[in-house]
Amino acid sequence: MERKILLNPGPATTTDTVKQAQIVPDICPRETEFVEIMKEIRNDLVKIVHGDLETYTSVLFCGSGTICMDVCLNSLLKADGKILIVNNGAYSSRAAEICEYYHLPYIDLRFAFDELPDCHKIEEVLKEHKEISLVYTTHNETGTGILNPIRQIGALAHQYGAIFVVDTTSTYAMRPIDIEKENVDFCMASAQKGLMAMTGISFIVGKKAIIEESKAFPTRSYYCNLYMQYQYFEEHGEMHFTPPVQTVYAMRQAIREYFAEGEQAKWERHKRVFEALHQGLSELGFTDVIKREWQAGLVVTVPYPKDEHWNFEKMHDYCYERGFTIYPGKISGTETFRLCALGAIDEEDIHAFFKVLKAGLIDMGVNIPVTY
Ligand SMILES: *Cc1c(COP(=O)(O)O)cnc(C)c1O
Repeated sequence: MERKILLNPGPATTTDTVKQAQIVPDICPRETEFVEIMKEIRNDLVKIVHGDLETYTSVLFCGSGTICMDVCLNSLLKADGKILIVNNGAYSSRAAEICEYYHLPYIDLRFAFDELPDCHKIEEVLKEHKEISLVYTTHNETGTGILNPIRQIGALAHQYGAIFVVDTTSTYAMRPIDIEKENVDFCMASAQKGLMAMTGISFIVGKKAIIEESKAFPTRSYYCNLYMQYQYFEEHGEMHFTPPVQTVYAMRQAIREYFAEGEQAKWERHKRVFEALHQGLSELGFTDVIKREWQAGLVVTVPYPKDEHWNFEKMHDYCYERGFTIYPGKISGTETFRLCALGAIDEEDIHAFFKVLKAGLIDMGVNIPVTY
């Protein structure tokens, strides 16, 4: 199969073995064979973040990553509770939007998109609002690539008696995470990002005891209720409603490949790719918007150069026709594009990409090095 290099923030470039794993004899997912696969996957998803299987569990949903944000927010808020969103970017803003749609009481604590959240401010809010029962943030804010200090935010959440939910969609199975050490009660991801599997399945890893407790919380959704899906998994070993069967086979293959590559080796590979992205960009004169030491190591956000010949859409098409996908930015009011280090790619792919990007700049008549 023709290999495409996806530098967008997911779905990621996948291996051929993962693609091929989807081609299986037709099977009804209620068969024991399929239930066994689900069991293996559920345990592995907890192990990837080093969770103890006595304490943590995983619950899968059919949908893209946003479904897990939706599920955690609508299912883990007790009656009389309030959500605190620690927000420095597009994905935490999406969480605030979910709260709006469910009419959930929440505080949207905003910080600049290029700054780390201020833990003193977070503590002030927690002190003032004793009703906060859930603190939510994004680990790697994929809109910019900034890595948020979840261990500290989690410690504060726990100090004030709140559940800590983190959107780890763009770090899970890439940057090593120890769920307990990071003070995380619930994290989440989708199969198409760090796991390098197919779109259509997403999952939450979190504390069993809290899910059990959430049985008594107000129910706000039917299809997206965490306890209901968990309970069905516990009783029947499978999703309440039809799972994306072939996607699940691909996910199982991707998880096997994850463990075969190894947590550390995989992270080293992503870091190599990230380094190569930075190097290639700086050789062409591009800058980035987030302080280098704050970047999670997976997304680089690049401002458009100030050059009358620069045109992102044209550059996208030029690269796309040559097998490379680049992606627009997600910062309102600032024109940026993003290059990401996820997927089954390595530094040679990035070297090949920069040859294309450079040729594209020359073709468009953009000055090299680019200017700002
Ligand atoms: C990709 C991503 C999501 C999910 O986005 P979908 O469009 O639903 O796939 C959620 N949070 C973060 C941080 C992400 O990077």
